[in-house]
Amino acid sequence: MPTLRVLSLYPELMNIYADRGNIAVLRARCEWRGLGFEHAASSLGESLEPDAHDLIYMGGGQDRDQVAVAHDMAQTKRDALHAAADRGAVVLAVCGGYQLLGHSYEMGGEELPGVGLVDLRTVREPGPRLIGNCAIEADPGTGPRVIAGFENHGGRTYLGPDEQPLGRVISGQGNNGRDGFEGVQRGNVIGTYLHGPLLPKNVWLADRLVELALGIELERLPGDELEDAAHASARRAAGV
Ligand code: GLN
Repeated sequence: MPTLRVLSLYPELMNIYADRGNIAVLRARCEWRGLGFEHAASSLGESLEPDAHDLIYMGGGQDRDQVAVAHDMAQTKRDALHAAADRGAVVLAVCGGYQLLGHSYEMGGEELPGVGLVDLRTVREPGPRLIGNCAIEADPGTGPRVIAGFENHGGRTYLGPDEQPLGRVISGQGNNGRDGFEGVQRGNVIGTYLHGPLLPKNVWLADRLVELALGIELERLPGDELEDAAHASARRAAGV
């Protein structure tokens, strides 16, 4: 049986809203099926081996933690991340991590570098933080599905003209509260503002990421229909 090799980036700094639960779900979904699961971490000052990981994960973070992470990631990990993405590794980045996938995060007169895996920019604009439950419709090669989560971000993200969002907002704010887009997906590189944590609320997405990372197809597991019912009711509540 194949083994999913997961790398967490800056797990001690980029983990607000219990985003480590995403790793727990990936592990459980693999182990329940008899797939292997390995988990490693790379943090400040550490390099990463582009061929050694099938799925690279980064969670959300506070602005102050993002400053150190952004500079370190641009200096020590940018090239390896591009190499990993080029060979098809899945990259999943949530909220603060998502903001650093793009070109820059401009906050309060300071511009943090991103790693440029996708064409997007994030800026702090006048206005409130975008906070609340959020549901989007996404299709990462599965047909249209609901992703449910919770967003809390001060930054507003704008995609470049050739970039595709992860989904369209059904309920909530999304990338910037204006254009109805949420997240980004380019190949196997996915960014989203949705915490929850993301994967415990959307185990179908966890499975899809495992499929993309390992190039296999997975059967559903007993109980998955409960999530379908919850998402259908989210859709009804939003009137779509
Ligand atoms: N610090 C970033 C912002 O406020 C990201 C927050 C987060 O990861 N929840 O926009």
